[in-house]
Amino acid sequence: MGWGLVPSIFLPRMRSRELHLVWPSWYFSGISRAQAQQMLLSPANGPGAFLIRPSESSRGHYSLSVRAQASVRHYRICTAANGLYLQKGRLFPSLEELLAYYKANWKLIHNPLLQPCVPQGAAGRGPECPPPPQQPLLQDGWERPRSEFALRRKLGEGYFGEVWEGLWLDSTPVAVKVIKSAYVKLADLTKEIQTLKSLRHERLIRLHAVCSAGEPVYIVTELMRKGNLQAFLGSPEGRALGLSLLLGFACHVAEGMSYLEERRIVHRDLAARNVLVGDDLGCKVADFGLARLLKEDIYSPSSGSKIPVKWTAPEAANYRVYSQKSDVWSFGVLLYEVFTYGQCPYEGLSNHETLQQVTWGYRLPRPASCPAEVYALMLECWRSSPEERPAFAALQETLDAARRRLHPALT
Ligand code: ATP
Repeated sequence: MGWGLVPSIFLPRMRSRELHLVWPSWYFSGISRAQAQQMLLSPANGPGAFLIRPSESSRGHYSLSVRAQASVRHYRICTAANGLYLQKGRLFPSLEELLAYYKANWKLIHNPLLQPCVPQGAAGRGPECPPPPQQPLLQDGWERPRSEFALRRKLGEGYFGEVWEGLWLDSTPVAVKVIKSAYVKLADLTKEIQTLKSLRHERLIRLHAVCSAGEPVYIVTELMRKGNLQAFLGSPEGRALGLSLLLGFACHVAEGMSYLEERRIVHRDLAARNVLVGDDLGCKVADFGLARLLKEDIYSPSSGSKIPVKWTAPEAANYRVYSQKSDVWSFGVLLYEVFTYGQCPYEGLSNHETLQQVTWGYRLPRPASCPAEVYALMLECWRSSPEERPAFAALQETLDAARRRLHPALT
């Protein structure tokens, strides 16, 4: 991949204790190559002093500047789809890890990396320079200036903001969630973004960047061109899909949820509207972080029953007992949505009636296009007792096996 084409999606990842710092001591945003050189050669610094800065000539990439004796060497750090690298073939998930590697293996770049540059005189914003007028919430390398994102087309609107299709640095298509500040507790948002950053899986929507200095806060994620699964299934393209692709959607969601299950993350709002579809018809679970904390107040039964009752397990709807097993219940409802091509569950029933019926033992019927073995799984997901519901790992396995078995006959 040419340097000019590589999207800038991998930014430094900080350990939680470092989040309180304005920047890591070695990271200098907004300084030029000449300013880096000037600082590193100043009397405050000796050989081995180093810094990382955004690249001037190649937007979205970084440069490592290191003082040798009386000169400074600059190394390009490239951002690729799956990591950062200074030398091709040596990929790292963050600048921090890349730096740790080259500190230990400095012979590879013929220069020891001894201590972060001490800022002196130059105009760049180093650790001793005054903080920007509006401190970002997160203060780490995921933070990007809002000006890097051009919002092009509104894709939709949720409870706490609008979602826009945008372009990052005029080149990388992204989705930008513009948060309505009235619905966001900033402390929760910070926590939530931390969760988003720590979760990486092919079947989960990926966070690219955050703009949290000032308002409105932007949460930038990968763009899924076919939109949410519920709407997609009801579209002419979705309605034309056969059983094997429907099973594929179910498998993708089960895979993403299995990953969350392993990490003991409870989604709380799993539904086809919160699953997004890509050009390749691959599905990814979304809102696994944001919805969970930000919506807590909004969805609270005491604050007006905005809880998505038809997707919510009875113990969660009645007593707010959320768990991985309440997510499994929601997954059963999502399966129903998939095999009815996006139909609303319990059609004709109000939320109150649904909860009452479900508590008395009523369960959704088998959709016409749903194989009996998949319907059997739905019923397992809807067992009254949470501990009797299957785990996502088991659901994934059974659905994969069903897909493999059914596929040859279906194509
Ligand atoms: P809620 O706030 O209850 O979760 P929601 O999921 O519909 O509702 P948002 O997450 O704000 O709300 O998304 C609104 C719509 O924007 C989605 O339904 C989807 O169609 C679109 N959308 C969201 N994220 C993306 C994305 N990454 N790529 C493409 N479209 C997206």
